[in-house]
Formats: sequence, C-alpha cells, structure tokens
Amino acid sequence: MAYEEAIAALKKLLSEREELAPEAASKIAQITAELQTADGKPPSSPAVERMKEGFNHFKKEKYEKNPALYGELAKGQSPKFMVFACSDSRVCPSHVLDFQPGEAFMVRNIANMVPPYDKIKYAGVGAAIEYAVLHLKVENIVVIGHSTCGGIKGLMSFPGEGPTSTDFIEDWVRICLPAKHKVKAEHGDKPFPEQCTMCEKEAVNVSLGNLLTYPFVRDGLVKKTLSLKGGYYDFVNGTFELWGLEFGLSPPLSV
Ligand SMILES: [Zn+2]
Repeated sequence: MAYEEAIAALKKLLSEREELAPEAASKIAQITAELQTADGKPPSSPAVERMKEGFNHFKKEKYEKNPALYGELAKGQSPKFMVFACSDSRVCPSHVLDFQPGEAFMVRNIANMVPPYDKIKYAGVGAAIEYAVLHLKVENIVVIGHSTCGGIKGLMSFPGEGPTSTDFIEDWVRICLPAKHKVKAEHGDKPFPEQCTMCEKEAVNVSLGNLLTYPFVRDGLVKKTLSLKGGYYDFVNGTFELWGLEFGLSPPLSV
C-alpha cells in the first residue's frame, strides 16, 4: 500500500468510527504539536524529555570529550565487525560488548536472524550484508543470540507450516525452522524452556549457515578476509559465549 493510500485508509477508518474521531484527532494534534513549535525549541513530553536528556548526556560526556574519535568518524567509518543482534531492548551489543561508535556495523531484528540470500523477500538484510562485506570490508560477521528470546519462543510455539495468525512475525522466525526441527528431534523430551535455550543457540548456527548463501560472504571466507562467529549472551547469568565457523563449527569459548 502506498503512503497516500494508507492516509486515505486512516481517514476512512476515522470517518466510519465516529467515536474514535475526537480522540484520534486530539492525538494527531498532540503528535503534530510535539514535532512543530513556533520558537523552534523541542516541546516537552516525557518521551521528548527523555531523548533530550539522553542526547545532552551523550554530547557532554562522550562527543565533546573525544574530539579525536568523532573527528575521525566525521570522515568515514571502517568497522571491523558486522553484528546481527536481536531487537530485544536488553541486548544492545554496544552495551554488552562495549562497541564504540565506528566499531560495529549492525543489523537488529526479531531473534537476530540472518535469512538466506533472496533478492525479493530479504532485500533489507541482503543490502546490509553486501554493504558491510564489499564496501566497508568488515573482517568479522558475528551473530549473537540471547537468553529468553521472545522470537525464539515464538518459533518454538508457532505451528511450523500452514496459515499464520500474524502478519509478519511467524513468516520471519520460520527462517530458523531447521533449528527448531533439530531441537525437537534431539531434545523433544526436555522441558520447554530448556528447548528454547537450545534453539536460541541452534538458530545462530542456522544463521551462520545462511550467511554462506551470499556469494560475497563465501568469497571472503575463501580469501580469508572474513570470519564468521556465533555468540550467545545470557543476561540471566551474565555470561557470553563465542564460537567460530571456519568450515565447520569449532567448540565454544566462554569469555
Ligand atoms: Zn530476542
């Protein structure tokens, strides 16, 4: 649906359901007011205040204290890492691995999945990998799973095939269906939370495998300019595991 059609659909919805109109109209007016003020200063609301304070803190404590770093970054970026992490608000790699600005090119999505090469279905992820590998020339691609991942719980709970009850979520997490099948086949007798934990790690391996479907990733591995790594952040126990894919999976290393 084009943007104009979406606006038309919203107007239609508002006119059909008149009880919604005053509330929706005031909400729209509020949002508009938040974004536009006569004096050009950002207006106040808890969300706006939170972001203002956050940026002021960053600017004072980091940006202004590191002119050399931010001066370099103004010229360009040459990150060594490309990182896939979950959209989960608790697992930001910049916090967990202390990546500084300029160090890691990131894709975050539901359950940190790398879909297989597909120009139509997964153009967004494909573009990010292509840019990271061919233009930024990252040296490492790291896929980081995490404990109690809602996306993986969904994958383990949703039916594996047939019609879906969500617009996007089920189709997306099915990318890692092979991980679910493996866990169900080998550990189907274990308690569900334990199966989910295993699937959180197994799904990382499926993503590492999917990375091999991108020709420029395979080229990088063959030329040894690129390495692939799996990671797992457990925020319940405060641990981080890392493992490699060097034509086969190497044993995990706890760090
Ligand atoms: Zn997650």
